[in-house]
Amino acid sequence: MEVCAWAETCPFFSDEKEYSPELYHVMRERYCFGDSSTCARKRAALCVSRENVPKTMLPADEDELRRLCEEAGCEPPAMA
Ligand code: SF4
Repeated sequence: MEVCAWAETCPFFSDEKEYSPELYHVMRERYCFGDSSTCARKRAALCVSRENVPKTMLPADEDELRRLCEEAGCEPPAMA
């Protein structure tokens, strides 16, 4: 299985202790080792740049994605 190209520098991928172990592993499998094009963190970065994505934002957090994009005045990037 291929890992997301951003994994090495992604706070979610590298900081398991911020999250509950079950949630962390499910999301890592689904997004980081699965379809990273659907990851809300990754899509938010396309809009607000990577350094402005909150460290604790989850890859499934579509609400935070919408909020960040709205604040930045852009449309949330669609899933590829
Ligand atoms: S959380 Fe998203 S951006 Fe980070 S490594 Fe996983 S898929 Fe990539």
